[in-house]
Formats: sequence, structure tokens, C-alpha cells
Amino acid sequence: MPDFSNQLITWQKQFGRHDLPWQNTTDPYAIWVSEIMLQQTQVVAVIGYYGRFMQRFPDVATLADATQEEVLQHWSGLGYYSRARNLHKAAVTIMDAHGGQFPQDFDTIQTLSGIGRSTAAAIASFAFNQIQTILDGNVKRVLARHFLIEGWPSTPSVEKRLWLLAENLLPKQNMVTYTQGLMDLGATLCTRSKPKCSACPLVNSCEAYQQQRTQSLPTPKPRKRIPEKHITMLIFLHGDKVLLEKRPPTGIWGGLWSFPEAEADCNDVDAIESLAKLRFGFSVQANRRLPLLTHAFTHFKLHIQPQSFTVQLVASKACESGQIWLKVEDAIAAAIPTPIRKILQSLQNELQLMRQDGSL
Ligand code: SF4
Repeated sequence: MPDFSNQLITWQKQFGRHDLPWQNTTDPYAIWVSEIMLQQTQVVAVIGYYGRFMQRFPDVATLADATQEEVLQHWSGLGYYSRARNLHKAAVTIMDAHGGQFPQDFDTIQTLSGIGRSTAAAIASFAFNQIQTILDGNVKRVLARHFLIEGWPSTPSVEKRLWLLAENLLPKQNMVTYTQGLMDLGATLCTRSKPKCSACPLVNSCEAYQQQRTQSLPTPKPRKRIPEKHITMLIFLHGDKVLLEKRPPTGIWGGLWSFPEAEADCNDVDAIESLAKLRFGFSVQANRRLPLLTHAFTHFKLHIQPQSFTVQLVASKACESGQIWLKVEDAIAAAIPTPIRKILQSLQNELQLMRQDGSL
């Protein structure tokens, strides 16, 4: 389908994006970092993070030398934290197993933590000018619409079809422009809702447009009831400091700092007070409850009830490894997920009130 790629290449040269911070370079490290950050995240959200990350970790050696804690701190708020942990792990692998050189071989790139086929293809294409096929969410949407492919694109049979199609569309030259063009079209014109078909270079051959199916394609993911979970987050205050705990290395918010938790939406303050004594070795006095917060993950919805307590006596047990007392403003700047930052910000207001009524 030479028309498809030629039209896309011509369009990209004139209307595509050319000045994003990770463009106009063939440095595989810079391209790799951007590709990982852009997974499931919009360009506009990534730009600031990317600049700060590259300033602190300008090359693979610096990233490999850093602690995971610091890498997570620079990722804090961007979500999908396994991306940051994998990035760090892969940097160590590049230093240890590849002499500090980003591998050029397509299969070897895919052996690095967190790099799947499409991400490897983007790196190989942009950094090494290899002819490789990308198929991220944006590209799936463009192909599903243009070629009227039914079925949720992540269904294995549909995905296989899309990969074959994407391979057959590859141009023999202008690979970088073509790959960028596919990304740009999906991000700027062939958007999830209200695609701007009148400006699209593929409008004359797009089957979804011809058949007025752009709103129903790609086929959405089959709906499943999203499970909901309720927890109480325990905010232990000692003076102007809060107790944070490091979460286990994998799983939700893996490796980030968070508050200790009680399982359910716990109204039983007495039970929490006993738990605090038993687990941390200190007595607490309950303060006001903070506003309920709901955070949506991909697979479930988490309802968080933050409850603050004033700690009467801090025993050494509360300073075990994996636990830390931080001033609220320092905690806000630590490697924490977004909901914890929101709670800490509302805690700052709470502390203000407590100072006003003399309870702090
Ligand atoms: S014509 Fe519309 S639906 Fe078809 S590829 Fe272009 S933007 Fe997407």
C-alpha cells in the first residue's frame, strides 16, 4: 500500500510535529526515555517530566548509578511506576551486559526490561534508522479505522492482523518520517473522539470515514465491572512530621512512599489506635478525617479514607527501615504517588486548622 505510506510521509513533513524535546536526535538513550514516558501518557503531560529527568539523568551511566528511589522521585506523579523501575533496571543491564552502549540489534533491544516490540521498533527506527514496525495504541486506532478492522485491537487475533497489516505498509525509505507520521496522525488528527478527518491525508482511502464508522472504531474493550476497594490511610503526625512507609518493590505504587493502611473503610478509631500501638509502638489520638479520595487504576477503583492521628509517643519501632518521618512539605517532594500528594496537600490545610484551634 505505497499510497498510505507516501501520503503519510508527505503530510508529516508539512504538518507533523518536529520540535518535541526528544526529536531531532539519534541518541538511543534520549529516544528510549521518551518512548517509555509516552506509554499511556499524553505528550503534554510528559514534556515537563522529560526535561527534568534528562537534566538529572543525562545518559545511561548516570541513570544506572542512581538509586531506584531517586528515579521514582523523578517519576512521581506520572503514574505506571513499573516503567520507571524497568527503565532503571534496563540501564543497569546496558552498563553491565552491553558495555554502556545501547544495543542496536532489534531482538536484543527487546530483552531489556520494559521494552516491548513496538517500543523497540520506535527506538530502532528513530535511533538506528532500521525498518521496523510500530504498533502502539495510536497506530492501532489509525489502522483499525482506515482498514475497517473490527474487534478490540488488543484481542490476540485482531492484534496479529494489525501487526501483519502494519508490516505490509512499511515504506522502503523515509522510515523515520513515516514512523513519526503514524504517531503524529494518531495523536493529533485520528484522535479517540472527534477525529479531524477533513484535515487527514488518508481521508480518501479511509474506510471508517467512507462508511461513517469513525465513532464506533476501534471496537472498545469489552466492558467488565471494575472492582472497587476501600481502605483507610493512617496519617500519623508527630509535630509537623508524618510517617511514611515504603511500599513493596512490585505491585501498585511499587517502591514508592505511602501512608500505613488499614484494610477497610475503617470507622472504628479505637481499633486503629490499638493497631498503631501494636504495629508501631506508639499511642495516638484521632484528629479530623480528611476528605475521601477516589483513585482509578486500570483494573480497579480505590476509595481512600485518610484519617489523621496525633502521635503521643514515638518509640524506636517507628523508625525501622522502610519507614520515615518527614516534614509535610518534604513528604510532598518525596517519591510518592499522586493520591498521596493530594492527601498531603489537604493535610497542610488540616495542620493550619489545628494550629488555629491550638490542637497542634
Ligand atoms: S480519515 Fe479520519 S478516521 Fe480515517 S484515518 Fe484519517 S482521521 Fe482517522
